[in-house]
Amino acid sequence: MTTWQHEVARRVRGEIVRDAPLAPRTTIRVGGPADLLVRPSDPGALAELLRAVRELGVPLHVLGGGANTLVADAGVRGVVLRLPPDLAPEQVSPGRLVLGAGQPTSRLWVRAHALGLVGMEFVAGIPGTLGGAVAMNAGTRVGEMKDIVSRVELATADGAGFVDAAALGFAYRTCRLPAGAVATRVELALREGDVAASERVMQEDRDRRRRTQPLDRPTFGSTFRNPPGDFAGRLIEAVGLKGHRIGGALWSDVHANFVVNAGGATARDVLALVNVARSRVKDRLGVALETEVRLLGEFLAEDLQDLRAS
Ligand SMILES: Cc1cc2nc3c(=O)[nH]c(=O)nc-3n(C[C@H](O)[C@H](O)[C@H](O)COP(=O)(O)OP(=O)(O)OC[C@H]3O[C@@H](n4cnc5c(N)ncnc54)[C@H](O)[C@@H]3O)c2cc1C
Repeated sequence: MTTWQHEVARRVRGEIVRDAPLAPRTTIRVGGPADLLVRPSDPGALAELLRAVRELGVPLHVLGGGANTLVADAGVRGVVLRLPPDLAPEQVSPGRLVLGAGQPTSRLWVRAHALGLVGMEFVAGIPGTLGGAVAMNAGTRVGEMKDIVSRVELATADGAGFVDAAALGFAYRTCRLPAGAVATRVELALREGDVAASERVMQEDRDRRRRTQPLDRPTFGSTFRNPPGDFAGRLIEAVGLKGHRIGGALWSDVHANFVVNAGGATARDVLALVNVARSRVKDRLGVALETEVRLLGEFLAEDLQDLRAS
């Protein structure tokens, strides 16, 4: 281990893995290792980690369920933080539910329904964690996280506290978390209602996804944001790329905005598909597609073109 890895391992309680493979921790199953993967065992250990990386000048990246992330083949320098689901206890008050940000997003409707609460039907079928759902303002045409999140607890090297959702700049598939902040708890505002009706709506959405999305293959969901008034999948199909394959990656023939790992895909393969779609859609249809998927790690500049990695 290098000096900084030793120092983090010495100071922080929790699960600490050097050269940790990240591909199995993403839904598309692509990419190299993290220098150090850290799962702090409790809020105090997380606070110590945040102080340690600041003092040591080590980059910190947060990974949730990896359902919207493409990891570089060369991996990620610095610390990749994963929150354990039970880092924070659940809290319930009338119409309010507070869950740990490391919980799977599915926990939201499981707990809401158990408490007789509804209003979060759009999350059915959105994989990942609550922290990732907040960071992405995850949602569908019928709802998004900003509709149900009232406050988010953020942790930084200077401490932790709840912030009103209104201060987080939620917008289409994005939100403005302060630099270096980790979402640790999410407060949701839900309403009492008909749980059976809510479950039916969610089941219809899951059935729709089974028909329209390649759920049996490794994928990170939508690759591009939908441009105003249109659908990225329609544009990719219109330029003849539905089913197009590069190496082990292909544009799904079920949903053209989904890249799937058809076996042995590399991040390079995925980026080559992304780049060919962006340039062909721009050249032929005049539309500049923007990526929704987050890029994590050390990509080659030639593969990135004008995309950005964190
Ligand atoms: C089959 C499939 C279907 C999908 N359908 C949808 C859909 O309908 N709608 C939709 O919006 N998305 C969809 N997605 C994408 C994905 O599920 C969402 O973006 C999800 O919210 C990502 O959560 P995650 O925990 O996996 O985030 P990750 O991919 O792990 O991370 C995404 C971003 O969030 C940040 N982040 C994660 N946790 C935290 C935290 N605790 N604090 C601060 N930042 C954090 C990461 O640093 C990263 O920038 C789909 C994906 C798949 C594979």
